[in-house]
Amino acid sequence: MEKTRGIIVVDAGHGEKGNPHTTREGFYEGTQNYKLSLYLRDELVARGFEVKLTREEVTDDPELMWRGGIAGEIGAVMFISLHSNAPATNIPPEEYIATRGVETYYSVKDLEGNAPIAKALNDAVIGVMNTADRGIKIRRSNENPDEDFYRVIRSAANSGCVRAFLVEHGFHTNPEDSAMLQSDEYLAKIAKAEAEVIDKFF
Ligand SMILES: [Zn+2]
Repeated sequence: MEKTRGIIVVDAGHGEKGNPHTTREGFYEGTQNYKLSLYLRDELVARGFEVKLTREEVTDDPELMWRGGIAGEIGAVMFISLHSNAPATNIPPEEYIATRGVETYYSVKDLEGNAPIAKALNDAVIGVMNTADRGIKIRRSNENPDEDFYRVIRSAANSGCVRAFLVEHGFHTNPEDSAMLQSDEYLAKIAKAEAEVIDKFF
């Protein structure tokens, strides 16, 4: 078998009809994430990485603990979950639409090692989407502060893959952000920018 630079697990969040956009016809977060995951796979393979998609088909919707857990199981060097965001539903309607920007979560299992990668990923996506910087973040589990809150990050890190990230590629509730997420041209540019970051760190 050909030697690769390591396995990257690319997790397109949700399932095919996950998180429809209420104002943009035909927008489903789960479908757009899936399209992005295919572009990212191609960019990473072109750079010598092996890629494991958690969703081989757009209709796949595996459970969250499996998505992360597979990373450790197959000895992946990195786990990246692809999402877009929506504000809390209790904020005023005008703010709901106006809220935009990119944020990236990383695992608490290696704060020092993960933060620079999260920052570079976040900056790369902002560079393409020309949107607000909501920063890099961690979120600790309420029950166990040594563990991650988000199940995909937690299960990846606990399976042995501590380079675990979740990128919120803008807000699908915002017209400017979601227009880019619905554009193949922009999805391809985002994937390329993210692959360049991964290429640099791994
Ligand atoms: Zn999501």
